[in-house]
Amino acid sequence: MTTFDKPGIDLHTHSVVSDGTEAPGEVIRQAARAGLEAVALTDHDTTAGWAQARAAALDVGITFIPGIEFSSQLNHASVHVLGYLIDPADEVMLAEMQQVRESRVSRAERMVQMIGGDHDLSWDDVLAVTEPGATVGRPHIADALVAKGLVESRVAAFETILHWRGGYYVAHYAPSPFDAVKLIRRAGGVPVLAHPGSRGRRGMDTETLEGLIEAGLGGLEVGHRENDAASRAILLEVAARHDLIVTGSSDYHGTGKPNELGENTTELGQLRRIIEQATGSEPVHGGGLRL
Ligand code: AMP
Ligand code: FE
Ligand code: FE
Ligand code: ZN
Repeated sequence: MTTFDKPGIDLHTHSVVSDGTEAPGEVIRQAARAGLEAVALTDHDTTAGWAQARAAALDVGITFIPGIEFSSQLNHASVHVLGYLIDPADEVMLAEMQQVRESRVSRAERMVQMIGGDHDLSWDDVLAVTEPGATVGRPHIADALVAKGLVESRVAAFETILHWRGGYYVAHYAPSPFDAVKLIRRAGGVPVLAHPGSRGRRGMDTETLEGLIEAGLGGLEVGHRENDAASRAILLEVAARHDLIVTGSSDYHGTGKPNELGENTTELGQLRRIIEQATGSEPVHGGGLRL
């Protein structure tokens, strides 16, 4: 178990409800085992894991922060917006998440159809590795490719067949990040831009960032393995200038990615700011962390 010198707070994880490899309750149990005191479940475009995560948090004695990672798209690039403590019954948000999930299914079917023209892969192979109702993504196609022995791992699949320049890439519907930010705020949640530097310093230009802040962006996920040092410096400067919340997280996907729980963490004061701004739902106080 890692010993954190401050409360270990990890605000970005995935379960089988999207593209993680563990059940929501298991993610929470793993977080407790890793020595974390608070963990957010942020499955892509769904809140379906919250109930199980909440029960597990109360069981193992850890704070659970309900969240989502909302898919959006800008200039053909995907942009992920974390949404903390949204109202899970907000109808506009529910409709938008459903639309994204449905589009993800038809997009994955189309990709598999194209891949199936060149490799021994069918839609049934993808269904066999996907939890019913999960937000379907390329990671599930990757798992099917691994199961069929066509690639070694998810990472290898993303570097080849599933790469956006790999010849089989199809986009899915997603709102603009400006709309994603507004939708999350409307639903009482706090929007935090996920891994803004994951495409390097040019991944998110300052003008777009300022536009997102104007739309209501609450924070930046600065501590993330995909943000390099140069991006982090810029992000911290923007955060200071606009008094934004700064988070750090693992983006844990179970065995689907090398990311380890707690590899980046968030300061307690920053989590408090998220909770202060949120009106959509409440943290689950399963442990001793005073918020
Ligand atoms: P999609 O949203 O379906 O286009 O797939 C993107 C998802 O794939 C992201 O949420 C990541 O979790 C996952 N992903 C992206 N790159 C990799 C990689 N190199 N290895 C494993 N998973 C990845
Ligand atoms: Fe993911
Ligand atoms: Fe992401
Ligand atoms: Zn993520």
